[in-house]
Amino acid sequence: MSGMSPVYLREQLLDRRARLTSLGEPAESDEVTRLLGEVDSALQRLDHGNYGICGNCHEGIEADRLTADPLTTFCLDCLTLEQRNALQRDLDSAAQVQGSLLPTRDFQFPGWEFDYHYEPLGPVSGDYFDLIAADEWLYFFFGDVAGKGVAASLLMAQLHTLFRSLVTKRQALDKMVFEANNLFTASTLPHAYATLLVGRVEREGKVEICNAGHQPPQLLHGRGVDTLKPGGFPFGLFPSVQFEPVTVALERGDSLFLYTDGLSEARDETGQEYGEQRLQRILESGSRHTASETIQRLLEDLAEHRRRTPLTDDLTTMVIRRL
Ligand SMILES: [Zn+2]
Repeated sequence: MSGMSPVYLREQLLDRRARLTSLGEPAESDEVTRLLGEVDSALQRLDHGNYGICGNCHEGIEADRLTADPLTTFCLDCLTLEQRNALQRDLDSAAQVQGSLLPTRDFQFPGWEFDYHYEPLGPVSGDYFDLIAADEWLYFFFGDVAGKGVAASLLMAQLHTLFRSLVTKRQALDKMVFEANNLFTASTLPHAYATLLVGRVEREGKVEICNAGHQPPQLLHGRGVDTLKPGGFPFGLFPSVQFEPVTVALERGDSLFLYTDGLSEARDETGQEYGEQRLQRILESGSRHTASETIQRLLEDLAEHRRRTPLTDDLTTMVIRRL
């Protein structure tokens, strides 16, 4: 998501200024002096209406870079080669860190199998996905942080940590999501939010899912494909909202298919979206396949649709299948 309101931005900058001045006499530290100068100059640009405009080419600076660093003064195109290389090194390390947050490929939970495809649009992704086995349950987390790039990936990492710590409390699923939503809402910028599916699987096939505004999962069974109930508030926007869980029972061989809109909204060269109907068709034609086969067939069908058209969003899919 792009575009912070000028009022909000000013508050943020004034807050930074107050924090910097509370560090002591500016003259005592070159670093504090430099940062104060940058904050004051950002405030001036806000006053003069040229905030967010590149100091060199006068085009707009990329919104996600401004969100990540409100003091940025140049667009990507206008960074020097040295600055660009430094930025690339940072992004490469960030991508490595993010990769280490994903579940390992050999993740196991008795009686169930998994596969996933995680494809960031850039070096890092705003899609969030995790699997955690805790006590007799398997938890899955699957979502999409609003926005793309570095800012979204920071929020993805925050969700990862938040839920990793909350599952240890052994509370009811909806209580856990309620608590996580309150914590996330209180600790992030007002415009930060995510759509999210949080599920808990029991060995014998019962699956409970709370949906916070995400595309509903598809249930693949012997008789075809059912779309689970949509709904729920987006995650991180409103404190104290409840997330009603739905419960489904998976027979042996049934799967749940989860995806982010990077899949359904992937376009072909004419601008046509891949769409939920085509997704439904490919899932229906192979509702008894293994987790890996389902992902593989879907990616082949998507490649056929897109041809060479590049993605415009992070793309993640996951299959959880009862063996
Ligand atoms: Zn520029």
